[in-house]
Amino acid sequence: MRLLVTSLAAMLVAMPACADSLRNAVLADLPYVQSLYIELHKAPELSFHETRSSARMAEELKKAGFTEVTTGVGGHGVVGVLRNGEGPTLLIRADMDALPVKEQTGLPYASTVTTKDDSGAQVPVMHACGHDIHMSAWVGAARRLAALKDQWKGTLVMVAQPAEERGGGAKAMLDDGLYARFPKPDHVIALHVNAGLPAGSVGVHSGFAMANVDSVDVTVRGIGGHGAYPQTTRDPVVLAAHIVTALQTLVSRNTDPSEPAVVTVGSIHGGTKHNIIPDTVKLQLTVRSYTDEVRENLLSGIKRVAEGEAIAFGLPQDLLPVVEVKDEYTPAVFNTEAQSARLAGVFKARFGENRVVETQPVMGGEDFARYYRADRSLESTLFWLGAVKRATWEEAQKSGKPLPSLHSPFFAPDPQPTLATGIEAMTAAALSVLGR
Ligand code: ZN
Ligand code: ZN
Repeated sequence: MRLLVTSLAAMLVAMPACADSLRNAVLADLPYVQSLYIELHKAPELSFHETRSSARMAEELKKAGFTEVTTGVGGHGVVGVLRNGEGPTLLIRADMDALPVKEQTGLPYASTVTTKDDSGAQVPVMHACGHDIHMSAWVGAARRLAALKDQWKGTLVMVAQPAEERGGGAKAMLDDGLYARFPKPDHVIALHVNAGLPAGSVGVHSGFAMANVDSVDVTVRGIGGHGAYPQTTRDPVVLAAHIVTALQTLVSRNTDPSEPAVVTVGSIHGGTKHNIIPDTVKLQLTVRSYTDEVRENLLSGIKRVAEGEAIAFGLPQDLLPVVEVKDEYTPAVFNTEAQSARLAGVFKARFGENRVVETQPVMGGEDFARYYRADRSLESTLFWLGAVKRATWEEAQKSGKPLPSLHSPFFAPDPQPTLATGIEAMTAAALSVLGR
C-alpha cells in the first residue's frame, strides 16, 4: 500500500511546456483568489448554515464561465457542471463549513464572528480546519480549467459541500441525487490542508488514508444509594471505571496488531455529590478503524464488554448498560491505487520530489469517503496540501515543539504559497484525468 508507483519520465514527456504556463496563469490569478480567501476567512459559517459561503461559490462558478450551476443540493450544496465533449467525468469537491472555535491567530483578517449554534448558545466561529483554503483553491482551479478548455475533454463537476465537520454534508448531497441529477463521476478528487506540512508541499498516500469514525454513547446503570452503605447499592461509578479499563483490551487483545484501531472514552459523567452513589454514569466514545471488519468487531465488542462487566457486578438484565452507536458515522477515506499513484507522479513531475511527501494514513475522519463508498468502481483521491509557513515549520522541526493542529484556535495557513500550490496541484490533477 505504501509504494507509490511513479513514472516520472512519462509524466515529463506528457507535460512539456504547459508546466510553466499553468504556473504563470495560477500566479497571475492569485491576487483574485487570495482576496476571496480573506473574505471567506473573515466570514466563517457553522455546519449546515453555509448560506453566504455557498452563494459565493455559486457566484464564483458563474463568473468562471460555468452555465450549469445548481444550488440547494442536500442543504447548502452547490454543483457546477462544465461539459467539454466526450471523455471521463471528474468531480472536484471542496467543503465549506467552519468550527465553533475562537480564533487566536492574531492575524489582521482573523475572524471575530459569533453566532447562535443549533442549541441556541452563542459561539465564536473560525475556519480552523482550513475549509476557506479549500473553497478558494477550488475556485482557482475552476477558473483555470474553464480557461484551459482546449487542453481537456470530458465533463467537470465542481461540488461545494456543506457540513463536513458534522459528517452529514456528503451524505445529504448524495441522498439528494448528486449521482443521478448530475453527470456521474468516474473520478473524484479533493484536497485537505495539512497542519504538519510546509506550504508549497503536497502529500499523497494510496490505500486507506483516513479512518472510519463512529461515536458511541454508553449509559451505565446501577442502583443508587448512600455512599456509606455501598452493600445496598450497585455502584455505576466503579462499574464504569471497570468498563473503561476493559475496553482497552478490544484494541490490545481483540484486534490484529497490524490493523489500526482506536477506542477513546472522551467523556465520563456521573453523580452529584461525595456521599451519594448515583444510578447512572454516561460515557461518550470515539471509535476508529479502517476496515469494515475491524469496525464491526470494535462496535460489537463495546456492547459485549459493557454488558459482561455489568453482569459481573451483579446487575439484573433490565439494568445492563445501554449502548447506542450514533448514526453520525463517517466511513474511512480510501485512496484508490491507480489514480493516487498517478497523481503523486504528476505532482513530483511538476513540483519536484522534495515538495511531494508520501504521507502516512491517519485516524482522523473526512466524509469525502462517501463519494467513493457510493460507487466503488470510481477512482478516488484525497490529497494533503501543506499549509504551514516555511519558517515556522523549519523552526518546529529544529525545536521539536508541536505546531498548532487543525481545529486549533492558532491554526494559521500561509495563504499565498498554500493557495498557489493548491490551485496548481488541483488543476494539474484534473488535466491528468481529463487531458486530451
Ligand atoms: Zn475538521
Ligand atoms: Zn476539514
